Amino acid sequence: MAQMSQKRQITVIGAGVIGLTTAIHLQEKGGYEVTIVAEICPSDHPSAHYTSHWAGGHHCTAAESDDMRQRVMDERTHQVFWSMSEPGHPAEKCFVRTPQYEHYFEEEGYPRGLETMHDFRYMEKSELIPGAVCGISFTAISFDPPVYLDYLHKRFLEAGGKLVHGSVQHIKQVVEGGSAVFEGRPPEPPAAVVVCAGLGARSLGGVEDKTVTSVRGQTVVLHAPWARFGATRRRIENETISYVIPRHNGNIVIGGTLNVDDWYPLPREETKRAILGKALALWPEIAPPHARKDRSPTVADLYPIIVEDGVGLRPHRDDGIRIEAEWVEANGVTAPVVFNYGHGAYGFESSWGSAYMAVDLLEKVLGTN
Ligand SMILES: Cc1cc2nc3c(=O)[nH]c(=O)nc-3n(C[C@H](O)[C@H](O)[C@H](O)COP(=O)(O)OP(=O)(O)OC[C@H]3O[C@@H](n4cnc5c(N)ncnc54)[C@H](O)[C@@H]3O)c2cc1C
Repeated sequence: MAQMSQKRQITVIGAGVIGLTTAIHLQEKGGYEVTIVAEICPSDHPSAHYTSHWAGGHHCTAAESDDMRQRVMDERTHQVFWSMSEPGHPAEKCFVRTPQYEHYFEEEGYPRGLETMHDFRYMEKSELIPGAVCGISFTAISFDPPVYLDYLHKRFLEAGGKLVHGSVQHIKQVVEGGSAVFEGRPPEPPAAVVVCAGLGARSLGGVEDKTVTSVRGQTVVLHAPWARFGATRRRIENETISYVIPRHNGNIVIGGTLNVDDWYPLPREETKRAILGKALALWPEIAPPHARKDRSPTVADLYPIIVEDGVGLRPHRDDGIRIEAEWVEANGVTAPVVFNYGHGAYGFESSWGSAYMAVDLLEKVLGTN
């Protein structure tokens, strides 16, 4: 006779990097059976409703020096990414380790915590881009979001997880009925719900957090296997910050915008040209070697190597990431709901650290720690 599962059922809302990482951490703690309900999953067509696909992305903490909670989350995630990017790890191809050059416009302007990065050093003045007053260099871990999200998705399914497509209107739907509501099955109330809805937290019933807003990021991906470095000009001008992020497959991501409360979901052509023009002026080595052999490269030289241009809406939250719990009652059923959303521009680099904190909190409210 089949043994009844003694595991607690947990429903996670959201299948971005935060939902997947939190779900996997729960599975790996043991004692939980995890189902994700999400409108959009990693295998779906990319859309502005799914920010994770569009991240740059690299692990370069921007946590304020006195924000210890954020620093801890970022450091813990860096440890996980470093081991995942080791040769031979199943996730190795999601990552690449390259030299990173960070240019600042104020002395000592860089965030504390970066000194512990591998191969950390202060850059020589001669290495700085125009106007920068100091710079640091280290070995950074960059990731390829679509490839990494596929890896997480697979790891979650292989550990027995279930991913159900569904658009949750109110968290009470999940408290009362679990994922079954979205599968046309009789209700199965979960032991707890975890909300990892990203920008969706602004409109999801029962959450409706109006301090969450979009910070729109437009980027361009080029195929430029000759450019094996990352660099950032750490100054925001006209809601633009210039950067280069390499990926394992020879692509590079050129950024980008930080448009506050801008919800336009598609790339703007004039912005694309501006992003490429600024990056090319700072780092001409992103252009194909033939285009810079005996002349200065132009933006037109970059168009043939464009792989993709896109837009992601960063889920900014005024008070930073929300990791809190509250009990929710729905038609006589009561369950704890843990919130893990509002990761802004740093969802990947804090993903494991924030999952650890959210799961610790969940176990505390469930009394299972
Ligand atoms: C251009 C750009 C560059 C970036 N670069 C970096 C970087 O270098 N490093 C870094 O760490 N971060 C970076 N980020 C930020 C990072 O992408 C985000 O912080 C992260 O993706 C947020 O993940 P999330 O899982 O919270 O949200 P999402 O990926 O948006 O996932 C939200 C999930 O919730 C689901 N959902 C929402 N509402 C509902 C609902 N009502 N019912 C059912 N499902 C729902 C969605 O369908 C989706 O599955 C960048 C972002 C952008 C746009």
